[in-house]
Order: sequence, then structure tokens, then C-alpha cells
Amino acid sequence: MQSDFDIAIIGAGVIGLSIAAKIPKKFSVIIIEKNRTYGLESSTHNSEVIHAGIYYKIDSLKHKLCLNGNAMIYDWCEKYGVHYNKIGKLVVSLHDNESETFENAWELASKSGANVRRISKNELRKLEPSVNIAAGFLSSNTGIIDSVGFLKSLEFVAKNNGVNFGFNNNLQELNRNSKFFKLGVIDDDGSATEFTADIVINAAGHGSPNITRMLGYPLDGSNNNFPVFEQRINKGVYFDIINSKINNAVHHLIYPVPKNQKLMQNYIDKVGGLGIHLTKTLDGIIRLGPDTEWIKQRSSFSFDYQNSDNKLMNFFNAGKEFFPDLKIDDLVPSHVGYRTKINVLNEEYSDFLIWVHNGYVHLGGIESPGLTASLAIADKTLKLLNVS
Ligand SMILES: Cc1cc2nc3c(=O)[nH]c(=O)nc-3n(C[C@H](O)[C@H](O)[C@H](O)COP(=O)(O)OP(=O)(O)OC[C@H]3O[C@@H](n4cnc5c(N)ncnc54)[C@H](O)[C@@H]3O)c2cc1C
Repeated sequence: MQSDFDIAIIGAGVIGLSIAAKIPKKFSVIIIEKNRTYGLESSTHNSEVIHAGIYYKIDSLKHKLCLNGNAMIYDWCEKYGVHYNKIGKLVVSLHDNESETFENAWELASKSGANVRRISKNELRKLEPSVNIAAGFLSSNTGIIDSVGFLKSLEFVAKNNGVNFGFNNNLQELNRNSKFFKLGVIDDDGSATEFTADIVINAAGHGSPNITRMLGYPLDGSNNNFPVFEQRINKGVYFDIINSKINNAVHHLIYPVPKNQKLMQNYIDKVGGLGIHLTKTLDGIIRLGPDTEWIKQRSSFSFDYQNSDNKLMNFFNAGKEFFPDLKIDDLVPSHVGYRTKINVLNEEYSDFLIWVHNGYVHLGGIESPGLTASLAIADKTLKLLNVS
């Protein structure tokens, strides 16, 4: 008996869609998504930054796939007309007493292979006259992208290649026999459907550990034959600046190094992100954030994408570090995202997890720079599966 599909992908976020778009036409493919359409979770609740790869542990998957993905995503945008702006990013210290952290950030960046250069105080004043910067370096391959446009282009290519889309289908059962995988989905009316596939690619973001559990793999890393699949959640909130005078006066993304810290990577691992920084949308609006907040409850956590406004004062204070004249009315609550991080043991580095086992692929911990790295992650996944 033959299976219904060669390949089933679970999750139509940027990772599932990138893989779907890159699978050669000769394979029969289905992509299953529990929501009514693609990209409603992390893939559209992020900073929309095309990262250059400067903050990650050298030679980690995050580092290598970000560097490759950066070039690939710009090429893709050109080819498919996705809106982007290679605006450049300044990593800065806003105060003279942050030089140790700044030098550590520079050391990481200068070893990363990304295109970075130190900027003199004079040039900083010319590049960003409205922000008082003590020291800075420029990452010129950092940009911003229309994430929805990117997802749309991936869906377009996948559909053109004959990929089947199953929206409103929540994967509830997954098991394998000696021949293939059996998948059980429930649609939004509560009807159950079963089908089979030779290969299953789990690109379910926050839902990926649950799917791996269905196959009986241990999640917590206690068995040395398997990696840790469990994930932690870290919430990030944004506020936008709606004062056009301020918005028009800023020309780059600006990432201040954290205060009272020595090592950038230790800081990122501890708090779960880079701390509140300044990005711009393609419409020219300054977006402050995302901040960081570990979510303790994990198993039954429900993702609320509303910004309740209760962090306004934190953002006002962070914004005043850049713009001393900022008024509280210049800020409005913007979106909310949830980072997904592998719950590493023994303070290991929390890297992307791309794990292949007998036709099953688990993609875990695909937090930032997952959007940037998506096309490179897709290539790596298909290479590991010998799908070409
Ligand atoms: C606050 C924040 C800021 C970020 N900023 C950036 C940035 O500037 N640049 C960058 O490169 N990256 C950034 N990222 C990272 C990037 O957004 C993610 O790496 C990327 O979106 C992950 O995509 P995904 O497809 O793995 O996950 P998702 O987009 O979450 O997709 C997973 C999909 O699987 C579906 N699913 C789950 N369970 C099931 C099931 N049982 N059955 C069917 N479907 C299921 C979900 O509904 C979802 O649609 C940021 C992330 C966050 C949270």
C-alpha cells in the first residue's frame, strides 16, 4: 500500500512555508495548519528585521543559518517583489560607562563574518543627529522586511509547485508503522480525518514538542540518545512612536548594549532577548521593543496577542534614553510576540534544533533569527532528508 503523500509538513509559519516552497515539484506534499490561514503566530509577531548574524555563538546553527539566510532572503525579495529596506543597524552605547559591554558586542560582531565597521563620534553625529550616542558600530547588511509579503510569496511558490494546503486542521495524532506515518487531524467543525505520509516535518513552532511527544520521544533530554525538545516561552511586547518628527529624524535601526553587563551573550541567555531597542517599520514608524518576560506556566499556556498597555511606563523610560523630549502621548501599544527557546540543560547555548530521525524532522527553538534564516533552514532540512 502506498502512502497518501510523500511529505507532510506541520505548521504554516515561515519555516513550514519555506520548506514547502523549496521541495521539488516531483514530491507530493501537504502542509497542515491549525489556524484559518498561514503565518498567524510568531511569523507575523516579530520585529521584521533581516538580521546580519552578529550576536550568535560562532558556528552555531543560529550564526551560520543567519549569515546564509541573510543573503538568501534579499535575493528572494528581489526575485518575488517582496518589500524590504536594507536600512542598516547601529549597535551603540548610549552612555560613556557602557564601554565594556560595547567592546564585547563589537568583538562578537567583528568575529561573526558579517559586514560591520566601527563608526567615529563625528560620523555617528552625521548618521543619527537626533540621538546622543557615546560609541557605535554599523551592521550594513541588516534590513527590514514585509513579513506578510514574504509569507505570501512563499505560499505562492509552494502552491505553484502543487503543494496542498490544509488550513483549520489541528494535528492531534501522529504515529508510525513499518511503512509510513499516520496523521490524524481535527478540523474547525470537529470532524476527524486521517492520512499517511512517508516523511513528516514538524515545523509547528510553539506546538512542536507536543507533536514529538505523540511519537513517543522523551522531551526532557534525560535520555542521552535524544536532544532536549522541551521549549521555554519568552514574551516580547512592542510600543510604537507616533510622533512623526521623531520618526523622521531616525535613519537606522538602533540597538543599545545593555546596562551594567559585561558579556552580551550571557545577558541574552539570561533575559531571553536583546532588551528594548529601536527598529523602524517599512512605513517609517519607530517601534520600541521587544522587551523580555519569561513565561513560567508552559503546558497549558494560551497565547494572548493583545498588548494590555500595562508596560507603557517601562517603554516611556526606555524611549527617553533615546529621545529625552519624548512625551507619553507619543507612544501607542503595538504587537506582542512569544519567543520559543529550547530548554537547554547545564547552561548550554540555546541553539536552533534541526533533528532528523527515520523520516521524521523536528524543528525546535526556532526563535530569532528564524525569519531571516528561514530559507537556509529549509535548505538544511531538505539536505538532511536527501530530498532534492
Ligand atoms: C518577539 C519576536 C521578535 C522576533 N524578531 C525577529 C526578527 O526581527 N528577525 C528574525 O529573523 N526573526 C525574528 N523572530 C523569530 C521569528 O519570528 C521566528 O523564528 C519564526 O517566525 C518562526 O517561524 P515558525 O514557522 O517556526 O513558527 P510559527 O510562525 O509560530 O509557525 C508555527 C505554525 O505551526 C502551527 N501549529 C502548531 N501546532 C500545530 C498543530 N498541532 N497542528 C497544525 N498546526 C500547528 C501554528 O498555528 C503556527 O502557524 C522574532 C520572534 C519573536 C517572538
